[in-house]
Amino acid sequence: MNVVDTDVAVVGGGAAGLMCAMTAAGRGLRVLVLEGANRVGKKILMSGGGRCNFTNTGTTPEQYLSANPHFVKSALARYTPWHFLELVERHRIAWHEKEAGQLFCDESSKLVVRMLLDECARAGARIETQAAIARVGRDDAGRFELDCRLGRVRASRLVVASGGLSIPSLGASGFGYALAADFGHAVLPTRAGLVPLTLSGRHQERLDGLAGVSLPVEVRCNGRAFADALLFTHRGVSGPAILQISSYWHPGDDLRLDLLPGRDAHALLQAWQRERPAAELRTLLAEALPRRFAQRLAERWLPSRPMRQYPPPELRRMAALLHDWPLVASGTEGYRTAEVTLGGVDTDQVSSSTFESRSVPGLHFVGEVLDVAGWLGGYNFQWAWASGHAAGEAVAS
Ligand SMILES: Cc1cc2nc3c(=O)[nH]c(=O)nc-3n(C[C@H](O)[C@H](O)[C@H](O)COP(=O)(O)OP(=O)(O)OC[C@H]3O[C@@H](n4cnc5c(N)ncnc54)[C@H](O)[C@@H]3O)c2cc1C
Repeated sequence: MNVVDTDVAVVGGGAAGLMCAMTAAGRGLRVLVLEGANRVGKKILMSGGGRCNFTNTGTTPEQYLSANPHFVKSALARYTPWHFLELVERHRIAWHEKEAGQLFCDESSKLVVRMLLDECARAGARIETQAAIARVGRDDAGRFELDCRLGRVRASRLVVASGGLSIPSLGASGFGYALAADFGHAVLPTRAGLVPLTLSGRHQERLDGLAGVSLPVEVRCNGRAFADALLFTHRGVSGPAILQISSYWHPGDDLRLDLLPGRDAHALLQAWQRERPAAELRTLLAEALPRRFAQRLAERWLPSRPMRQYPPPELRRMAALLHDWPLVASGTEGYRTAEVTLGGVDTDQVSSSTFESRSVPGLHFVGEVLDVAGWLGGYNFQWAWASGHAAGEAVAS
């Protein structure tokens, strides 16, 4: 069997793996990236609608979900959005800020992959695609052995950067979790995050036919609130507000929507009653909300009459409903469309500064394979860059 010796083997050529590889190789180590898919960085290519929301300048530990909320602090503080932006600018990639610190490429996310590949090439990191790993073991000297189409790869350090389970068609696999478990690491239960929610039964029927309708809402669940757009889909609801709250929602949890965020619904209803007493509620609602949705509200939740016919208690009840509308979701669309995977390799057994296993020297975990997932808006890539960079420095120290 052909034997390839290297200092560092990185499993997974995604955002975290490529950042780790270029950092470690840049410090003089021999680095070999083993990517299972036919090309690296597929999620980067798909991201941000093809423009890659590569970071968020407002990144703080609060935008991450993990059983240990402190775990992200060290790496995020050491490799900030400004470090990544400096790299982007050095490669003359034009970018723009979309909203609230979200930075996107002007042209294409291909440029981000190109940049990472150029950095890897400059530093001398070797990248092999279609290199799925058949077996992982250790030799007598404690080096890691990985069997793949290259033969047997021997490495003193193994960095697992194989990502989460989201979007299997982009190369996602449970490889990192299985490897972690084989080496005695705990893996916390995984579930889809940043994912559209589905509705069923009468809850779906009541909203049937609204696919494509979008409106600004504030959505609340389990003490979290996100103000952004909601989009009705054929199967349920999506849009940034729903994707964000989906990471905090479990089946059966109460989900509430403010349909008129930032407005006083009671004052609005009173003004309509005063100024347009003969107008039907559904006509007026259609001035404040998308017409099709306003009609549906009037059919199913707020029976429409001329405004003058509503007694004050009913106005108050309607206002309360507009600010606290219950949405009963039955599930999520799952990993097929999820942007991230929640849960994963338990951070308790991993160093937050070197990303090395506390029980298996030389074994590191970076990126989404860990029990860390960020909000929508560039935070997940920032985690991949920061954790990949920290591990890349650590293996070379
Ligand atoms: C459609 C979509 C859009 C997104 N948009 C954004 C965005 O705009 N901004 C943002 O911050 N985040 C975004 N995300 C999330 C972001 O892409 C991920 O959080 C990030 O890519 C995680 O980096 P990673 O390196 O840990 O994993 P990945 O980027 O998933 O990389 C893991 C790599 O490991 C490889 N791999 C898996 N199993 C094996 C194996 N057995 N052997 C070898 N290789 C293997 C995979 O093929 C993949 O290349 C998006 C996600 C999706 C799905």
